[in-house]
Amino acid sequence: MALDLDYFRKQLEEEKSELEAQLGTVAHRNPDAPEDWVVTPPDLNVMPAAKEEMADQEEELENAASVEYNLESRLRDINEALEKARQGKYGLCAVGGEEIDEARLRANAAAVTCVKHA
Ligand SMILES: [Zn+2]
Repeated sequence: MALDLDYFRKQLEEEKSELEAQLGTVAHRNPDAPEDWVVTPPDLNVMPAAKEEMADQEEELENAASVEYNLESRLRDINEALEKARQGKYGLCAVGGEEIDEARLRANAAAVTCVKHA
């Protein structure tokens, strides 16, 4: 396979730092499991003055949770792809083991399956 591994590894590392920076704004690392992120709850010392504010806070927490979920699952894909790169299996389909089309990897460096098995 003539994949430019350095290029893809760099793409993955860059996206990983971006994701971690974004995650840092809505969540913090689980001290017991560094790869796991926990949503940071809104400041509970600030008592909402009215019911509407309470609802706002709840909505905020829900949004943070869904943002966190999406970022974390993307981060997991990135880490998986980096792990595959370490094992020399980067760019191989997780289902059939065949080479993933390079154009597909350029569109998504963390793709783990070929188009057929997506
Ligand atoms: Zn496949």
